[in-house]
Amino acid sequence: MLKAILLYLSRQKGIQDFMVNFGVTRRVVDRFVSGEELEDGLNAVKKVNSEGAIATLDHLGEEVSEPDETIAATEVYVDALDKIKKNGADTNISVKPTQVGLKIDKGLCEQNFAKIIERAKEHGNFVRMDMEGSDCTQETLDVFKSLRRKYDNVGIVIQSYLYRSEKDVDEVLKLDGRIRLCKGAYKEPKEIAFPKKQQVDENFVKLLEKMLPSGIYHGIATHDEKLIEKTKEFAQRNNIPKDRFEFQLLYGIRTELRHKLVREGYNVRVYIPFGRQWYPYFTRRLAERPANLFFLLKNFFRA
Ligand SMILES: Cc1cc2nc3c(=O)[nH]c(=O)nc-3n(C[C@H](O)[C@H](O)[C@H](O)COP(=O)(O)OP(=O)(O)OC[C@H]3O[C@@H](n4cnc5c(N)ncnc54)[C@H](O)[C@@H]3O)c2cc1C
Repeated sequence: MLKAILLYLSRQKGIQDFMVNFGVTRRVVDRFVSGEELEDGLNAVKKVNSEGAIATLDHLGEEVSEPDETIAATEVYVDALDKIKKNGADTNISVKPTQVGLKIDKGLCEQNFAKIIERAKEHGNFVRMDMEGSDCTQETLDVFKSLRRKYDNVGIVIQSYLYRSEKDVDEVLKLDGRIRLCKGAYKEPKEIAFPKKQQVDENFVKLLEKMLPSGIYHGIATHDEKLIEKTKEFAQRNNIPKDRFEFQLLYGIRTELRHKLVREGYNVRVYIPFGRQWYPYFTRRLAERPANLFFLLKNFFRA
């Protein structure tokens, strides 16, 4: 119930404006967001790299409704790719399709992605298309498939909570597409998504067991230790070397687990967001773990 309310609030623009301009939430937000500027993101990447992990940088922003804003967002990523190269930072980038125009026009979104992917290609880098709510799934896959036919440095995300995901994994694998597998962070009805955690977890295992033997380099994105153990066991049983896939975690979550995976010799990537539009991302993190909400409230009353 609380999770559903938080996911509803994550899409409310009025609350977003209030929260973004109300400084007291900042120190709680800082746990999950590296800062407002690209420099903050790059500093976080540097630290993560020094701790033996790689990263993916996300410029926060989504559901953009003005074409000009999508062009500006595209430019931020192009600039970020240049600075990543210049700084020798070991990070790729993650982009939300609705930040670069998916909800305005699929063609515009593809065009913006192409610009970003081409600059990434020049620098030997890679672009991950994040997956958003189910109202975007088909169109995101359409854009991905079209881009994947032209570029080999673009990947997609599949969410194990959706019934359709098994079929989507098959289709992406046919294109030799790189997948980030996650559970899914949005509020979805039971008509299209598994309602129980156990079912989402079982599907996660089923999907990773399809993905890992493909020989394509995939990302297993979860902080769930049971699923991480299942991934390790499956890889060992099937002689899939540790360097043929990676684990992915979010910035500020289960850092000690990240260090442990690095010590064990796994590739680990940290998703590092930066930017001012942190509200929807932050609220989804609260929804995943309502204990975070109490931490936020405690800081509110302390201010
Ligand atoms: C690298 C990465 C990229 C992602 N990209 C996408 C995407 O493109 N689209 C999408 O829909 N979702 C994405 N997600 C989010 C994902 O779908 C889940 O919502 C999120 O990872 C929580 O699920 P979990 O697998 O960690 O398992 P859970 O069962 O939710 O959590 C397992 C354990 O992890 C810890 N934990 C999990 N979340 C939190 C939190 N917010 N705060 C504190 N502790 C926490 C807790 O200890 C919890 O017990 C991504 C996640 C990761 C790690």
